Amino acid sequence: MTASSSTGASLAGKLGFFAPLDALLNDAEQRAIQQARAFCHQHVAAAAHAAFTLGEPYPITILHDWAAQRFLALQAPESAGGLGASFLCKIRLAQEVARHSFATAFSLNNLQGSVTRVARGGSARQQQAYLAGLASGQLLGAPALSEPQAGSDLSALSMRAERSGQRWLLSGTKRWVTNGQIVNLPLVMAKAVPPGQDEGPTASFLVDLGAPAPTWSRREISTVGGASFRLAEIELREHPVPDWAMLGAPGDAFKASMATINAARVHVAAMCTATLYSALAETVAYCADRTTFGQPLIGHQGLRWELAEVATRLEAANALMVQAARHLNDGNDAVTVAAQAKKFAVDTAIWGVDQCLRCVGAIGTTPALRLSMHQAELRFAAYTDGTGQLLLDRVGKNLAKDYCVTTEGE
Ligand SMILES: Cc1cc2nc3c(=O)[nH]c(=O)nc-3n(C[C@H](O)[C@H](O)[C@H](O)COP(=O)(O)OP(=O)(O)OC[C@H]3O[C@@H](n4cnc5c(N)ncnc54)[C@H](O)[C@@H]3O)c2cc1C
Repeated sequence: MTASSSTGASLAGKLGFFAPLDALLNDAEQRAIQQARAFCHQHVAAAAHAAFTLGEPYPITILHDWAAQRFLALQAPESAGGLGASFLCKIRLAQEVARHSFATAFSLNNLQGSVTRVARGGSARQQQAYLAGLASGQLLGAPALSEPQAGSDLSALSMRAERSGQRWLLSGTKRWVTNGQIVNLPLVMAKAVPPGQDEGPTASFLVDLGAPAPTWSRREISTVGGASFRLAEIELREHPVPDWAMLGAPGDAFKASMATINAARVHVAAMCTATLYSALAETVAYCADRTTFGQPLIGHQGLRWELAEVATRLEAANALMVQAARHLNDGNDAVTVAAQAKKFAVDTAIWGVDQCLRCVGAIGTTPALRLSMHQAELRFAAYTDGTGQLLLDRVGKNLAKDYCVTTEGE
């Protein structure tokens, strides 16, 4: 797939909720979206909901089948067996999964991001060792930054990397690792500490957890409604990592990680709007069918207006997300708009699904509808890639730059 531009567009003009992004994709990317839609309908829709109802993660077969479609290698270059898709295609594809389960979409796309990271930023040796395995789903990666004492405040990282011969020994604990229960090649951020010192610049390492060893262990994090994130804590105890497996050099790793944060925020925003779209569609269908006081629920003006409000805010959230995505795709400064898009999409989705639940009545609390799953899984979106407060802080710091009226009236 060649990179998409803001203009190309065989679907341009076709009306629909997803049309604004579809219109920005090239033909090969649009085919990939259709392929993903069919896949999700067949493999994800019922299975993810059934698993949620049992308090279990989505079936692992979905991951293997997803990899077989080459979707884990979505953004890897075609020369490396990938599809060479654009960022816009990535977030649009994630939406197709998020229509059925936010947590499944987030988890699959987290794995896909790990493939992209090695394909774009890995050394020849790292690519040779890991890229094919990551693309096929035999190796599973995850960014491992957060720690028990370092969540929002990543300057408080305490994971240490100490040099020992031609390798590093990593010690510390990572928490909230997405797919942490199954990953075997997390990208671990650690302070590269010179001998005899306590502090050092942050580096990142591809940490091989392929075989059981006394130097590492993991512990599942139990959540309410978030089984499909497969969250875990991973502890390293002088775990050896060869020199060549360092992905981000001391002093560069943190900057590299922050360079991708705006894209991650827009990505979460896109998944949130897709999940709310799905919830609203299910609610409208139910309310058109269920009759009270001699007419369908949707016929009651008070209820109809509540759903109209959801639809209105959903469109606004989606438009802001598309605007942020376009800025990123065009290489513009997207710091503020990405933070705004994520904040507004998360808040709108959580609020909107709650409104939907009120409108359908008690049935919404049962597995007859998917609304309770959407409500539970969307809550987690509030914490990933910037919490609400930190996003507002980001927007606030840019207020003078972004909104100050100059003497020219700009
Ligand atoms: C589903 C899920 C998946 C995740 N996946 C990963 C992953 O793959 N890799 C990874 O490294 N991490 C991951 N995380 C962790 C995530 O990045 C952290 O949860 C996030 O950084 C917030 O940290 P914390 O939860 O420790 O909250 P804390 O940092 O303890 O903050 C608690 C609250 O205080 C607020 N707060 C903190 N500082 C300020 C401030 N200065 N001003 C105002 N308010 C403030 C926060 O906004 C938050 O509301 C995941 C989390 C979730 C829920």
